[in-house]
Order: sequence, then C-alpha cells, then structure tokens
Amino acid sequence: MSPHDPGGNIAKTPVENKRDLNRLSISSPIEPEVPSGPVLSSESCKMAYKFSFDLTGLSRSFFREIAKVSDQRDLHRKLGAMAEHVITAFNIPEVTGLPLSDAVTLVNDMIDIYARNLAQQESFRRSSKRALVLPHCSRKYMDNRCQAEFDPKLSTYSCRHCSQDCVVNKAVRLGEQEGYDVYVLPGGSCIPKLLANRPYNGVVGVACPNEIQMGIRQYGNVVPYQAVPLLRNGCANTEFNMDTLREVLVSGRRRPDAG
Ligand code: SF4
Repeated sequence: MSPHDPGGNIAKTPVENKRDLNRLSISSPIEPEVPSGPVLSSESCKMAYKFSFDLTGLSRSFFREIAKVSDQRDLHRKLGAMAEHVITAFNIPEVTGLPLSDAVTLVNDMIDIYARNLAQQESFRRSSKRALVLPHCSRKYMDNRCQAEFDPKLSTYSCRHCSQDCVVNKAVRLGEQEGYDVYVLPGGSCIPKLLANRPYNGVVGVACPNEIQMGIRQYGNVVPYQAVPLLRNGCANTEFNMDTLREVLVSGRRRPDAG
C-alpha cells in the first residue's frame, strides 16, 4: 500500500514486509471453510495465527496504551519500539504466557490496526450504507444449542437471540441500534460474497488481528473500514470487548454534514 494512498492507509515497514514474506511461505489457505448448511460446527477451524492468545486478563489500560501509541505521527519509524514499550510495560509474556516473538507479532498487529482505524475514521464517517461483520466463533454455543440460522447465499448466520449473555447477541443488537446490517460470518473468505451481493460503503469488522490485516490488504482500498481485534483467538469461545466495539461504532457515527 502506498503512503500516499487517499484511503489513509499506512506504508509497511521493512519488518512488516519481511513478516509478510514469511507468511507467504504458509502453504494452506488461512480462511476457515464455509459450512454448507445450518449445522454449527468448529471442526473446520483454521486459526489465522499459528499461536493462541488470550488478552482478556489485561486491564483496559493496556488497550488505552495501544490506542495512545497508535496515535503517533511518525508511526512508521517507531512501530517496533512502540511494541517493545507496550510489551515491557504490561509484562505481556508473563501475563499471557506468549513467547516474546509471538507477543511482538500480536502487539505490532494491534498497534497497526488502531492506527489504521484512526487513518480511516474520516472516510468511514462519510459512509452511508454500513455492515458490521462479527466472527461466528464468538457465539456462546458452537453446536445446535445456538439457534442461529445459516444463509448459504450470503454465508452468514442470523442470530435468533436465544441467549442474553451471548456476546454475539449483544453485538448484533448494538449494531442494529446503530443502523448497521449485521452479519455473523464463518471467516474472512465470506466477505467478497457479501460485498458482491450488498454494496456497502462502510464496514466494521471484528476478527483476529491477523485476519484483520489480511482483510485490510484485500479490501482496505475498496471500502472504508474500522476494525475491532479479538481479545482471545481460537476455534471457539473467542472473545472481543463490547466497550471497544461500542467506542468504534459511536466514534464512527455518520457526520451530520456527510453527503
Ligand atoms: S444468541 Fe444468537 S449467536 Fe448467540 S447462541 Fe443464540 S442464536 Fe447463537
């Protein structure tokens, strides 16, 4: 992506480019397969990262710090130093059990996502037709206790609100209140089909940080976006923060003077 990209995208550092080259050596596609019907299963799960992470034990100040360091003008030169600062300040390897190299990958991705959110915010605020895309792996149940219906045409689940304490249920209600069409997708591979069928000009996506990065590379120049990274990855019981999602939806509200 060009540093002069009108979409406000941020040029990659040599470290990022090297990491991308490493990723290219992964032979199998990272996207999970799309279920063929309403059977709700996690058997086909393929995680975006090769490691598991769980940041739910970290205080909110961790995410405030990520947001703060992301809001730096000279991000390109300092990304590695920022990640090192955050990892040290919050003792990430000890608190999460992540090896240092994985912690660096994860925190770098999160800083980058927050920075891109800021860069995209103005163009996103001008969007008028919006979708909120949620990960199916955050549903309370991954078996037939989940009453969601699967729509093969759009490869999305429709939440039937069977469990009040299901985070997807809460996010669906919040998104609809804010005027979004909400989709619960089995993976990022379903997004092209969605955008082909529904011409949205603004997308909020909740996903694993690595999957968000891949989505940005594919669609970042196509549609203005905001992203919310998962706090815990995996094939099931993944988690995202509702306060973070609410902040993104509120800060992205359409400007009254938008055309
Ligand atoms: S509230 Fe919705 S997403 Fe959650 S388990 Fe029930 S139908 Fe599935």
